[in-house]
Amino acid sequence: MTKFSVLILGNASAAPTLTRNHTSQLININEQYYLMDCGEGTQLKLREHKIKLQRINHIFISHLHGDHYLGLIGLIQTMHLMGRATDLTIYCPSNIKEIVDVHLKASESQLKYTIIYKMVNSKDSEVVFEDNKVIVSSIPLKHKIPCSGYLFTEKPKPRRINPKAIQEYKVPKHCINRLKIGEDYTSLEGETVKNTKLTMDSLPSFSYAFCSDTKYFEKIVPIINGVDLLYHEATFIEEHADRAKKTLHSTAKQAAEIALKSKAKKLIIGHFSNRYPDLNVLLNEAKSVFKNTELAVQGNEFEVSNSQ
Ligand SMILES: [Zn+2]
Ligand SMILES: [Zn+2]
Repeated sequence: MTKFSVLILGNASAAPTLTRNHTSQLININEQYYLMDCGEGTQLKLREHKIKLQRINHIFISHLHGDHYLGLIGLIQTMHLMGRATDLTIYCPSNIKEIVDVHLKASESQLKYTIIYKMVNSKDSEVVFEDNKVIVSSIPLKHKIPCSGYLFTEKPKPRRINPKAIQEYKVPKHCINRLKIGEDYTSLEGETVKNTKLTMDSLPSFSYAFCSDTKYFEKIVPIINGVDLLYHEATFIEEHADRAKKTLHSTAKQAAEIALKSKAKKLIIGHFSNRYPDLNVLLNEAKSVFKNTELAVQGNEFEVSNSQ
């Protein structure tokens, strides 16, 4: 079974509340963890969900407003105290190294592990991380300071072997990998068996777009086109659209319009202003434009599957 999920660790903008932590999400793609933003209190939320901190090797920071990274130094320190030896890579569109270095210098600390910093292009979309299963690209956003979203796209998966057919056609083990990439099988006697007789279609590949703080910004639509799961900030409702404009944030309706235009399959809204004790005002506004919308409720895990 494969997994593709997003766990909401925080959803508050500006000041956190007792029930709403600052932005952070844990993305799980086939048991590989990626941490998205690291607001204050993130390490405690990770503990609450029994996530092993040392399994996080990549942290993506959208921008340097405090509500998106103030938990980072605490997390880095705890990883050190727990004896981490593995490299940690931090992606950010601004110089976050400078901030971490000031802390390390002031506390005369030397980490037991290496932090690799990757500067992210917040003007154009570009690949920031890639392995044999996933590609992560930046999504340029429009905010008060350089700000980047991140698009996670699973690479196409191998075709699935049909064990019965393999037995029937006596396919030797060393040919299996070639079948997985779609090649036909030719026996020593010269008989060719079509790949489709020996394999089944691959499992679907999914995508997730995290669109952090931004004003309504249509430039991102082609970048996230057809995404399976879209997170888009929705700090305000339309009634406070002037506030959204001034602070370069989005309303729930605007988030929904981006979801509609980009043909996303599902929308999660978050980064709520604490002026809304009842989040349904945001949800209903978004739903009036894009029906398949859910709130980024803290502690909820969104699993991407065929049937969403
Ligand atoms: Zn923010
Ligand atoms: Zn911000």
